Amino acid sequence: MTPVAPADGPPHTSTSFHEMWADLKPIGRDPDSGGYRRYAWTRADQDCRAWFKAQAESRGLTYELDRNGNQWAWQGDPLAGDAVVTGSHLDSVPLGGAFDGPLGVVSSFAALDELRHREVEFAKPLAITNFGDEEGARFGLACVGSRLAAGQLTAAKAHELRDADGVSLPRAMEAAGYDPSAIGPDPERLARIGAFVELHVEQGRALDVTGDPVGIASAIWPHGRWRFDFHGEANHAGTTRLDDRRDPMLTYAETVVAARREARLAGALATFAKVSVEPNGVNAIPSLVRGWLDSRAADQDTLDRVIAGIEQAARENAARSGIDLRITRESFTPVVEFEHALRDELAKLLREEHGDIPVLGTGAGHDAGILSASVPTAMLFVRNPTGISHSPAEYAAEDDCVAGVIALADVLEGLACT
Ligand SMILES: [Zn+2]
Repeated sequence: MTPVAPADGPPHTSTSFHEMWADLKPIGRDPDSGGYRRYAWTRADQDCRAWFKAQAESRGLTYELDRNGNQWAWQGDPLAGDAVVTGSHLDSVPLGGAFDGPLGVVSSFAALDELRHREVEFAKPLAITNFGDEEGARFGLACVGSRLAAGQLTAAKAHELRDADGVSLPRAMEAAGYDPSAIGPDPERLARIGAFVELHVEQGRALDVTGDPVGIASAIWPHGRWRFDFHGEANHAGTTRLDDRRDPMLTYAETVVAARREARLAGALATFAKVSVEPNGVNAIPSLVRGWLDSRAADQDTLDRVIAGIEQAARENAARSGIDLRITRESFTPVVEFEHALRDELAKLLREEHGDIPVLGTGAGHDAGILSASVPTAMLFVRNPTGISHSPAEYAAEDDCVAGVIALADVLEGLACT
């Protein structure tokens, strides 16, 4: 990670942001790459959670851990209703960056500090959240905490989730000292929320192109994950004639190329980034290659077309090479249009201090997208000059982070203090 440099901006805001950032920085950090391994219900995750709880308590906020393991820090009465909620997540992808998730949580606490500095009068309760297991790095399903709360993942399905070592989600929660017995929909909690605003580092370069430190989200592209199982025949790499092989690696490779072509032609995205091989021996033709496809597009029709094209190419190539192919859709999230009224209100609240803020779509999934089916939801993005994300190179300048905090504080003040 590139170190965050001291910045201009209101000194108290810079200081509170900087101190929290420095506190979180070492947790789950790989010393060689500078990337993070903050997987759900691991030691690093628990350390992040302890950090969150300490931040809540040091500000005199009411701390709650909900039935699904999401953390909440409340100013005002948690049961009063019509609450303004902000926050994000603290977990990471394998060797992820420092900003995806933590920027939103740290900015939420810093924005509250800024509002207290302004001595505003709160008319509504305000809560800061850390949603558990947003990235899905351990159990293969993203946004588990918010999906459970919103009823988009049933407790039964959550009980079936397993990590690479075969540990189930409930056992992992138990091992971390949390009671998994009540996981499931949490409509009463969601009913307390009047508006949810998630600040997040941009995962693209749109703001760098427009020259703006902060943007507002319009929509999250529909996206999903598909597993391709290519079954062939294990055999000796040194004695099996090419014509006699049923090599699933070949069909897998052709499918990777097809995915790239279909995505390019459609203006969409398709990525094979995770693969497992059996028996995974250097001199053995594989018996099974299992590849995971992640694909996203601006609209459902385009995404359907891309997936159909990739499936067709994979099936044709498999048939030609004697490969048995099975395709399983493991997860899918339809397009999320953020509520227009709240989006417009954010733009209005920010116009005076920040001018006209760009409104942009994103291909990345977020807890805000999950919650948008249940509560009015909006997102703010902070400029990422390289656009790189899910990598140790992920970065936002501290000036922009502080601009994000101020924008978030302005939004929260407008929503919670009128
Ligand atoms: Zn994120």
